[in-house]
Amino acid sequence: MFKRILYLLIISTTFIFAQPIESLNSSEIKLALKRLNTLGTVLYVAAHPDDENTAFLTYFNYAKHLRTGYLSFTRGDGGQNLIGEEQGDMLGVIRTQELLQARNIDGAEQFFSRAVDFGYSKTPEETLEKWGKGEMLSDIVWVIRKFRPDVIVTRFPPNGLGTHGHHTASAILALEAFNLAGDPNAFPEQLKYVELWQPKRIFWNAWTPALTSMGISSDTLIKINFGEYNNLLGRSYTEISAESRTMHKSQGFGASGRRENLYNYFLQLDGEPANDNLFEGIDLSWNRIKDSKSVSELLMQAEVDFDFENPAKVIPLLIKAYTELQKLEDKNWIDIKSAELLKVIQSCAGVWAEAVTDENLLSPGSEVNVNAGFVVRSDVPFVLKSIRIDYQKNDSTLNTHLVNGEMIFIDRIISIPENAKYSQPYWLEEGNHKDIYIVNDQNLIGQPKTDYPIYATFTTELFGTEINFRTPVFYRNNDPVEGEVYKRVEIVPEAVASFDKELYLVKNGEEKEISVTVRSFKGNLNGKLQLQTEQGWNISPAFYDFSFTGQNQEQEFKFKINSTNKNVSSNLRAQLDIQGKKLTKSLVTIIYPHIQPQTVLPEASAKILKLDLHQKTPNKIVYIMGSGDKIPDLLRDLGFSVDVYTNESLTTEQLQNYEVVITGIRAYNTNQRLSADQNHLLKFVENGGTLVVQYNTLGDLVTDPSPYLLKISRDRVTEENSPVTILNQEHKVMKYPYIISTDDFEGWVQERGLYFPNEWDEKFVPLLELNDKGEDPKKGSLLIAKYGEGTFIYTGLSFFRQLPAGVEGAYKLFINLLSAEINE
Ligand SMILES: [Zn+2]
Repeated sequence: MFKRILYLLIISTTFIFAQPIESLNSSEIKLALKRLNTLGTVLYVAAHPDDENTAFLTYFNYAKHLRTGYLSFTRGDGGQNLIGEEQGDMLGVIRTQELLQARNIDGAEQFFSRAVDFGYSKTPEETLEKWGKGEMLSDIVWVIRKFRPDVIVTRFPPNGLGTHGHHTASAILALEAFNLAGDPNAFPEQLKYVELWQPKRIFWNAWTPALTSMGISSDTLIKINFGEYNNLLGRSYTEISAESRTMHKSQGFGASGRRENLYNYFLQLDGEPANDNLFEGIDLSWNRIKDSKSVSELLMQAEVDFDFENPAKVIPLLIKAYTELQKLEDKNWIDIKSAELLKVIQSCAGVWAEAVTDENLLSPGSEVNVNAGFVVRSDVPFVLKSIRIDYQKNDSTLNTHLVNGEMIFIDRIISIPENAKYSQPYWLEEGNHKDIYIVNDQNLIGQPKTDYPIYATFTTELFGTEINFRTPVFYRNNDPVEGEVYKRVEIVPEAVASFDKELYLVKNGEEKEISVTVRSFKGNLNGKLQLQTEQGWNISPAFYDFSFTGQNQEQEFKFKINSTNKNVSSNLRAQLDIQGKKLTKSLVTIIYPHIQPQTVLPEASAKILKLDLHQKTPNKIVYIMGSGDKIPDLLRDLGFSVDVYTNESLTTEQLQNYEVVITGIRAYNTNQRLSADQNHLLKFVENGGTLVVQYNTLGDLVTDPSPYLLKISRDRVTEENSPVTILNQEHKVMKYPYIISTDDFEGWVQERGLYFPNEWDEKFVPLLELNDKGEDPKKGSLLIAKYGEGTFIYTGLSFFRQLPAGVEGAYKLFINLLSAEINE
């Protein structure tokens, strides 16, 4: 009896469900038992979502039973989105979720640093200057000290071999951090949360052509066959890794599984030399933990005794092992193995725990009903002692002896406190970041996502041992097509406001209508909506009163805005005053079938840009879509008449109605129509039209875009503030309707441009010269030639980024390009 009480007092560990998932099946339990008898950790390091070798992660998790982690320095927010409109921060939210879904498949854990994916970088020096080398070292040292890997593996070599600057920087940082994580003088402020950790060795996961170029024979390196087959899973590690890689859907990285042997090579970068095994000389058994003999013996026995048809039979052994485990000194391994062990106990017993609600967006001060349920699908003698839901005043004491298959339910109203913190991706909370996210809580750094805001805890007892199961409270409903659907519950403001556009363009000081929608997440809300801006703009009316009787109501309010002085651009902010509380957030929901739905709370703001344009400009424009950009809508906003063509044919006759044709980004790479229509487009120029071709890559071109010799190259200028020289100030497109000066190249974002031609016919006139620091000047960013009666323009300048960002100078230059054939 005494013993029983002792267990109750000593043992109370918490197990966290990542999401409401069913128990492991018998094969998965068998693998989990093998893992319980293995103690080792490996960390893979690279720069972006998609850099990771998912075969490596799958193999070390499922074949070697090691804790396997991937540290991606960035969340991939600087890339292109192939599945939707999201860019920047919102794309980073999608890519974060894609990585988490990939890890669900390959079984590895995910980490990030604070680094922002600021776009293409040519050198690690530029990358480390932007990110801050000290901050990045601190982040990776922190992840190493928390995750405690025996071995670190980089995707890229620290000497670069000419790949993306972010890639090389990730390897440089990993190599330096390898020697800092165990150094008490490095980042001592971290030591109040974590202990020092010295990994044994670090490798580069080399690829063969790179080794050849370095004169290294792969025969001299450690090699591993990732193509091995796993009987328990019925698949090879490379088949599983293809499914994991296919989660990078926003990058279009669907992958097919390989069924043959696949060897990878590992070049050691530092640490104790190893000859034929990454983990050579590292004890991966319980022997590495003091006094663990009895835990080890019990777990070995459980693995031997495991019965695929009756998994519950080993639960008494597992409970004993759990009890013995709590007596050990190594807190790190106690936590890791307790969580693994509880997952196995839960699965062997067929435990299901759930806490669900039918609202997914809750606001401070609101009340909601939560339904919690618990069931055991075996004859294991569980006692359900109590259920506690966060924000519920008292635990619900039950002390019920559970019967196989009989679910215990409770319903409780919970009240979200008035001062509850909003839940959203933690790295976006502070907003206004540049090349590094602002994260003020050290303990959040490295974490892939924000924790769930509300949990339910189920306290049970089994063979005298107290075990807590914990699950987030989820929103659940049944979709007629998808079936059971779960969403995160989030805490959001009582009301949010959103502008109908991110950028308002105002031509010639005209009056612009701005629409703001207010949405409530709480009933009985009365308040005032007003817009705030810099001096010099008139907004009417000054404010609107609003009132909502219930949750999820929406109301649209229209304001008129015009400028009273020479101010050209300004930020607009929406503010809601509700009973003395000022709310300034908008709400963005991101939904795709392959990720968990995401809720983000950016500031409710928009930009306004005024352009004075009294001269003549073209009346009718054709925009031929490439891989997708927002330029047509922005031109329409400025009053241009723009017809968008995607797959429709364009004949010479049709083109007679237009003055300008613009091709969207990568149109000559992606739009097959152009191969048939190019002769019509050239005829159109010959007859006096203007054709503006934006950047195309070196990939396959459907046809030659230019009437004269023009060779596209990899030349790009990535420094958005690099100096620009105007080569021919007298050329018409530098003078009409706007006089372009070097001031017009201020405030550009992310980059100047890409894939500039580096060879062209002498009929082309280069108009600009620019380059990144330390490189030769490049003249191919803007090339103009007369062709027949008209004008052909080729430009790699990234107008597709500058125009949506509201960069005034870029608008002026773009309008000038369109006006090349306009007679003043
Ligand atoms: Zn990459």
